[in-house]
Amino acid sequence: MNRIYMDNAATTAVSPAVVEKMLPYFTECYGNASSIHSTGRDARKALEEARRRVAAVLNCSPNEIYFTSGGSESDNWALKGAAFANRKKGKHIITSAVEHHAILHTCEYLEKQGCEITYIPVDADGLVNPADVEAAIRPDTILISIMAANNEIGTIEPIEEIAAIAHAHGVLFHTDAVQAIGAIPVDVQKIGCDMLSLSAHKFHGPKGVGVLYIRKGVRLENFMHGGAQERGRRAATENVPGIVGLAEAITLATENLEEKNARIAALRDQLIDGLTALPYVRLNGHRTKRLPGNCNISVQFIEGEALLLRLDLAGIAASSGSACTSGSLDPSHVLLAIGLPHAIAHGSLRLSLSDTNTQEDVDYVLNTLPGIIETLRSMSPLYQDFMEEQK
Ligand SMILES: *Cc1c(COP(=O)(O)O)cnc(C)c1O
Repeated sequence: MNRIYMDNAATTAVSPAVVEKMLPYFTECYGNASSIHSTGRDARKALEEARRRVAAVLNCSPNEIYFTSGGSESDNWALKGAAFANRKKGKHIITSAVEHHAILHTCEYLEKQGCEITYIPVDADGLVNPADVEAAIRPDTILISIMAANNEIGTIEPIEEIAAIAHAHGVLFHTDAVQAIGAIPVDVQKIGCDMLSLSAHKFHGPKGVGVLYIRKGVRLENFMHGGAQERGRRAATENVPGIVGLAEAITLATENLEEKNARIAALRDQLIDGLTALPYVRLNGHRTKRLPGNCNISVQFIEGEALLLRLDLAGIAASSGSACTSGSLDPSHVLLAIGLPHAIAHGSLRLSLSDTNTQEDVDYVLNTLPGIIETLRSMSPLYQDFMEEQK
């Protein structure tokens, strides 16, 4: 069976050009980038070239790029590093209710360490209101962390405005831009952020490698202790093949951004229009301030998990809520934050596209999904009761 992959917000296929770039760094140029000999120096050269390429995309200095093991580590480092380095200044951090668990669970940990966290609520579209962020700032606020775009519902947050507010109050600003790279322009000068997290596997790069951008002069406690790699700020032998892959992937992902995303957004809109035309199906997330590849719907009267299993049998890979919470029966914190009742949040489905998806994929989903919804509803006591009441 021809499999259709619409779970690109969870992870993406590594593009063949990226694999091609990485291969020599496993088998030929495998030296430790800290070694003195030429095998090591070749690896070092590749590492620094990758750093320059990433810096060029983000519009910063290569010295502000720190390679990590991925989005989760970058988020952990930004928050814990800022909290521990600024203990004397304060203990208050502001974030939003819809962040990824890499942020929210780090905040919970920091609360146990004596930090105080304000979780800014969002509106029904998932938007953070910058005025709410400003109102939450206290004399002891040290950091504001708001994501660039939401991984579940695709809403794009007003981070430039929030960064300006943070700086007007002398507060550091971090953004989790993991979902934004390759989807919207990401320029750290234009955003005005002090720190930014990204992860290669969300834009057709390898898993287990990411970046924390740290603006020059920002003090952060180290997170990973050991050797003197990454200018003494992040220990561990550099993942040279992964880093080379990340640099190639971010370059490819940000080329012809507008053109590429216009095509993806057109496919997304077909999904949104086709699916929300079905009875008792609603769109989650902002209609236009939205990632080009994100379609998140709630299908009333059925369980998201049942939908996923049926879709999988039909050859379609999708997600309900966020992949990180699957296996737990709690509905997604993001869907609850936008005000969905538990019953409706449970029936949510995320279809996330990338440039590997085609018109045929979308047509197949639009032809297949309505029948699956109908079948599941015909088995749903909730739906039967509801239809009885309507009579
Ligand atoms: C995937 C994701 C992360 C985690 O990145 P990993 O590289 O998988 O650790 C963090 N934040 C957001 C918004 C994500 O989508």
